[in-house]
Parts: sequence; C-alpha cells; structure tokens
Amino acid sequence: MRLALTPQNLSLPTKEDLKKTFELLAHSKVKGVCGAYEYKASTPGPTLAISCLVHGNEPSGLAPLWYFLKDDWLEHSLLKGRVLFIANNLEAAKRYFEASSDDERDLCRVVDYNMNRMPEDVYSFSNPKEYEFGRMQELRPVHEQADAVIDFHTTSQNADPLGLAMSETAHTLMGHMPFRKVLTEVEKVQLGLPACTFFGGHDRDIPVFEVESGGHEEESSLRIAIESALQTLVNMEMVALEQSKEPSEFDVYRMVDTLWFPDESYKLARDFPNFCEISKDEVLAQGDQGEIVSPLDGCAHFAPKEMRVLSIKEEVMFLSERPYVRALS
Ligand SMILES: [Zn+2]
Repeated sequence: MRLALTPQNLSLPTKEDLKKTFELLAHSKVKGVCGAYEYKASTPGPTLAISCLVHGNEPSGLAPLWYFLKDDWLEHSLLKGRVLFIANNLEAAKRYFEASSDDERDLCRVVDYNMNRMPEDVYSFSNPKEYEFGRMQELRPVHEQADAVIDFHTTSQNADPLGLAMSETAHTLMGHMPFRKVLTEVEKVQLGLPACTFFGGHDRDIPVFEVESGGHEEESSLRIAIESALQTLVNMEMVALEQSKEPSEFDVYRMVDTLWFPDESYKLARDFPNFCEISKDEVLAQGDQGEIVSPLDGCAHFAPKEMRVLSIKEEVMFLSERPYVRALS
C-alpha cells in the first residue's frame, strides 16, 4: 500500500496551462542556459534535476512544474537544496506548442536527432549541424549540477506507467512510486545514450531514472508525473510530506537484448503487446535474410503497433528476462 501524497481531487493542468508553463520555462535561464528553471532553498542540500521534453511531443513532463508553481507551492515547501527543471529539446517542444494538428504534433518529437540516442562523445563534437547535438553541449553546465535525476516521458500508445532505472543507484530514489513495473539496464542494450544519463557529469554515478507516465495526451499521465516528482522530493527529504511506512515492491525486468531489422524486407512475426512473454527460439521476425528468433524465455517491450517499422535505424523492440520482485523500503 502506498499513501497518496496528493489529495484525491488533485487538480491537473489544462493544455493551455501546459503551454503557459512551457513558455515560462523556455524563457527562464540557469547558468546562462535557456529552458532551465531553478528553485533554491536557503538551507544547502542536494540538487534534483527534473528533466522533461527530451521528446518535443511529450508535454506531460511539464505538469510537475505547473503544480509546483501553483500558489508558489514549492517556493514555500522546499526544505533544502535545489530543484532544477530542464526542457531538453527546446526547439522541438516550441514547434509542438505551435502546431495546429495531431499529425503536425507527432512530427515534433525531434528536430534532427533523437535525444534519447545520444553519441557518448557528443560534448566534444565541433560545431555540430544537428540541433540536438548543439543543445546537449549548451545544456552541459546544468547537466553537471545534478546530484539526482528524474526524467519524464510518455508513449504513443496508452499504457500503464512504468519506471526505467538508468543507473546502478536509481533504486535509492524509487520507493513508493505510483507504478509497479521497472525496467533496468535499458541504457546498456540500446543504441547510444539517453539524455538523462549525461546529468551529473560523465564519471559520477548518480541516481537516474526515467518515468514513462502513460499515453502522450492522457490526463492520467499528468497525475503520474506530478506524483512521481513529489515522491522523489519526499525520498530525498527535500519536502516534508507524510509517506507510507510500507515498503513498496516492483516487478523488475532486466533488459538483455534488442531486436534490429537487417533490412527493409523484415516484419514482425506477430503482435507483441508491451511486456508480453516470448519463448526461447520463438520466431520474432522474418525477412529476406532469414528468421530472427528469441535468444531467451523472456518478455518483449516497446514493439511498434505495426508489423513493419518506419526506420530500421532504431531498435524494433527490447527483450528482457522474465520479471523478478524487488522490495524497496
Ligand atoms: Zn520520450
């Protein structure tokens, strides 16, 4: 059991509220970096980075900032340390809020390059022409400030919320979260690195986790994002809210592999709903170069809705072991 930190009738932002929150964030600066907003308590303490808009079409990550600004709640409630809000893909998000149709909004995920697939040495590229590489370099001074990170995403299909532990110490911040399923080691099997793993500077092992709070436009995604951000502040003892004494349990799915299509002739062998079980040697996909079979008895994650994919340059789906239960206190 977890004790809800927020009242049952928790008010949620409208689309217009999110747009206004974005405008405020886009025009705010921390260390000279646009798209960053800071809360600072008078008592020193850790810096929590609340990261959003790694993908421009995922506005739910703005909901915690809206909630904290309302009635100056966090201004009055922050006991120690700093909270840094960061809009990662500022340009893609700007386009999202200016778009006038759903089709147009879908295209605002990235400008040139997926910020969740960053090359490890992106800071050292000289004058990159891709917007996202330049933006990562611009964000470096705020990345380096973080002692912990929570990074908000949503999914194109409506789905239950889940967490992705992106560092060895992520679980230290993940007690009592409003989701049950947690994926680990995604960053080890995926192409490139997620933007959130650059926070804290390269050599520091800080707690980093991502929340997929539900479908892009779902109201429940806003609630999950607000609750997760509040719970993180409680777990870091940065705000004083009553918390359940019960330990929480997670179903942990350790990622072990990804499925790639070798060429455009490939298609999935069947529908793979998120978290569905797959069996060792089961045919996952077929194409001109032969069948691709599952290397293990496990589960499939983030498969596309269609049997074919728009681009073979990214993973088609992720493969994990079957889940085990981990208790967190
Ligand atoms: Zn995303």
